[in-house]
Amino acid sequence: MSYRAWFQCINEKCNETYPLNKVIYRCKGCNSLLEVRHDMKALGHRSAKAWMKLFEDRYKSTEWPYGSGIWGKKEWVLPNIHNDNVVSLYEGASNLFWAERLGKIVGLDSLWIKLCGNSHSGSFKDLGMTVLVSQVKQMISEGAPIQAVACASTGDTSAALATYCAAADIPSIVLLPKGKISIAQLVQPIANGALVLSLDTDFDGCMKVVQEITKDETIYLANSMNSLRIEGQKTVGIEIVQQFDWDVPDVIIIPGGNLGNVSALGSGLLMMRDLGLITKLPRIVVAQAERANPLYRAYLTNFEKFEPMQAQKTLASAIQIGNPVSIEKAIRTLKQFDGIVMDATEQELADAAMLGDMTGMFNCPHTGVALAAMMKLIKAGKIDKAEKVVVISTAHGLKFTDFKVQYHEGKLDFPTKYQNRPIELPATVDAVKKALAEALKMKKDLVV
Ligand SMILES: *Cc1c(COP(=O)(O)O)cnc(C)c1O
Ligand SMILES: [Zn+2]
Repeated sequence: MSYRAWFQCINEKCNETYPLNKVIYRCKGCNSLLEVRHDMKALGHRSAKAWMKLFEDRYKSTEWPYGSGIWGKKEWVLPNIHNDNVVSLYEGASNLFWAERLGKIVGLDSLWIKLCGNSHSGSFKDLGMTVLVSQVKQMISEGAPIQAVACASTGDTSAALATYCAAADIPSIVLLPKGKISIAQLVQPIANGALVLSLDTDFDGCMKVVQEITKDETIYLANSMNSLRIEGQKTVGIEIVQQFDWDVPDVIIIPGGNLGNVSALGSGLLMMRDLGLITKLPRIVVAQAERANPLYRAYLTNFEKFEPMQAQKTLASAIQIGNPVSIEKAIRTLKQFDGIVMDATEQELADAAMLGDMTGMFNCPHTGVALAAMMKLIKAGKIDKAEKVVVISTAHGLKFTDFKVQYHEGKLDFPTKYQNRPIELPATVDAVKKALAEALKMKKDLVV
């Protein structure tokens, strides 16, 4: 069977199409975003059962490149890429675990965490970048004059781009907002040999510049405006369902900034439904930081009105975005998935992240936003105790140790609930015994 995919304008009145090897990010006719569309009829010739079996057989295998969580679903992602051009670091296939203790504390019987930060560069951005860089490698092999791949980033996109480009021997350029990302995130593209440009602006400012730079078609744009990334990221929803033995959870909660990832999540789930692998859809919840919550504000108007905003500084630095590129796609997704948007203050996100940590997780602040939104929705009666809930954890907590240090040292400008400070003692058995006795006496149950 021959499968096919192409770029298509998301504007239904236009629907212009372009080949995937064309350097294009927006529709030439109407300037809308593009999305990758697949020949669903061809994919439909294989039964739902047969697709499930194929995906299961490949899952985590060592047969190149199908053991990757993305490339195990190659026909649904980028069917026409040659395996020689795939640039994979065996991304995806990440842990989905039952957060039993945290669930009990917040009042859920079945809370699950999809740990996307347990990945090559430490965030879900790997899922999309493997696809984009593979497509670039294929285009270069066909003779396209691409000199480098560039992105604006709040930290994780640049880390992913730099690592995949380094693996493929393709130059990468990253534009970062100076002083607004963690040290770990800054070090990643430096270590991988990217050209790192630190600009005195915020993410939205970097995004504007990179869009200008990439008007030169020899510099390929790697932001999620480029819908190739969405094709990789959409496997997260498919993978979650697969990990539940093809059972669909009731609610999936995801933190959102530029809003590519929520669109991707929806896209993967819809593809499963359209090809008969599932019959119901979960509700999708997007969680935003209150200081960068343009989608939440639009949600409050029933999506009648959307206004970009100036994002304020937030601990959830990867989602400090006021003018999300994928706003239209995200709203479309939320309408299809009976969606909810909730926001969280700095205090709420920090406490939620650390409460999770206290139950054995190691959360990034964005996962904190998702957990805080979940807790607020449980309180408001919008998520029921008996529902099966999955929280998408987007990055590894080790990228955000500054956040945790500040929290536990009490250096944030709000009171904190779960502070845990090291006790400095003389190196004597007596001092340690005394400290132990006091600490064990004081052990309290964790509460929300
Ligand atoms: C990029 C990113 C997000 C936001 O994803 P969008 O697609 O921009 O909405 C959330 N969390 C982390 C850790 C990220 O790196
Ligand atoms: Zn168009």
